[in-house]
Amino acid sequence: MPKSGVAYVTSVGMEVHAELLTETKMFCGCLNRFGGEVNTRVCPVCLALPGALPYINRRAVEHVLRTALALNCQIAMRSLFHRKNYFYPDLPKGYQLSQYEETNPIGYAGYLVIPAGDDGLATKRVRLRRVHLEEDTGKLMHLPSGGSGVDCNRAGVPLMEIVTDFPPDIHTPEEAREYLQQLRLLLVYLGVCDGKMEQGSLRCEPNISIAEESAEKLGVKTELKNLGSFRAVASGIRHEETRMADELGRGNELKQETRGWNEDKETSFVMRVKEQEQDYRYFTDPDLPPMVFTEEYIETLRANLPELPMQKRQRYIEALGLSAYDAGVLVADREWAEFFDGAVEDGGDPKQVCNWMNGDFARLLNEDKLDVSESKVRPSHIVNIVNLVESGAINGKTAKEVFERTYKSGELPAEIIESEGLSQISDTGAILCVVREAIKENPDAVGKFKEGKTNIKGFFVGKVMQKTKGRANAEIVNQLLDVELSK
Ligand SMILES: [Zn+2]
Repeated sequence: MPKSGVAYVTSVGMEVHAELLTETKMFCGCLNRFGGEVNTRVCPVCLALPGALPYINRRAVEHVLRTALALNCQIAMRSLFHRKNYFYPDLPKGYQLSQYEETNPIGYAGYLVIPAGDDGLATKRVRLRRVHLEEDTGKLMHLPSGGSGVDCNRAGVPLMEIVTDFPPDIHTPEEAREYLQQLRLLLVYLGVCDGKMEQGSLRCEPNISIAEESAEKLGVKTELKNLGSFRAVASGIRHEETRMADELGRGNELKQETRGWNEDKETSFVMRVKEQEQDYRYFTDPDLPPMVFTEEYIETLRANLPELPMQKRQRYIEALGLSAYDAGVLVADREWAEFFDGAVEDGGDPKQVCNWMNGDFARLLNEDKLDVSESKVRPSHIVNIVNLVESGAINGKTAKEVFERTYKSGELPAEIIESEGLSQISDTGAILCVVREAIKENPDAVGKFKEGKTNIKGFFVGKVMQKTKGRANAEIVNQLLDVELSK
């Protein structure tokens, strides 16, 4: 029976794959790099030629352990690699080395905290089921001649899989997007993944289902692929919610299927319908030893984790008094946040430093398409300009000009002010002379002021600023004008 006006609850499970930043591949010495000529980074091990023996990349294991710890996971002190057997053209071995779901993945039973609520001040925990290590597959390519081929440069690249718990804690497209953004940031802060979704080093495959509010079971799920950006993740999930509700509304049954997202057309298409669970015939890889970790090793890794993005964000809000928005902007880029930390450590007022960074500094960098690390401005420059304004040595308008010069030359603001004689005039006697001069030169304007057009005061402020090249202390100018114009 068709239903209308039914309220559905959406549930989203997230499966994220992150290529790990290592020098070499997971089980061989081939370089782990993006791009380049096809099939140039391959060897008997990653192509699984007979007799080739794999060995475990320690660095990759450490990356997964650190990630699992940062994600509040339990750690399996003994963990194995399994062969996941299936046939697909992008898999030269005929199996993928992975960690079987029912046994010990390196990390399990963790959670990620994400911002929540309209003001972003609340937080929410998204529970995680597992964090495990596997190898990436090759890449199918369409050849100019019309056929297809496989590039095995990616085959054997260390890949980490992070899966949310069941039933899912994520219920909206926005939450899914926030989860992915926070997870990406965490991986980048840890230095384990470059997080480049557009290059495929971070891939997200959500499974989406909808069910009536009162239902005890989750609905039939759709797995969505080809999501190349955060925006695509949110719009893809939103599209699926609507599509499934429409289907149910028309009285149709949903099929469990894998769908692809077409970003240009903002629509999804069927890739395959799941008829039965595939049997991957998992078994322990006979060539690889178990990974065994000591308590001491794990605790050393835990103790050496950096301050994580959400911890930083909460510290900025709670201890430094920044808004959730400002804190979010600072934390969204690790180098930007480190720059801010450096300026605050140097004694800069956090709010003022943040205003300069997210205001003028960000605008100038953006205009020149530069990263903060490529700029001549260092945290000490920002602290200097903040202190000069705060002490009244220069006014806001001069400060902006000085900062632009600092940005271009790398000179310290105090040096520019010194050499150019730009310091603010706060000497009341000196300003009074200029104020009287301006009044004397503009009798018509004075007349209008006396007729009651008091907003003409702004005209006199402008005149005084012109005469002092913008250096007069605006507060004193205003006070003196009030007195002198009323005479
Ligand atoms: Zn290799």
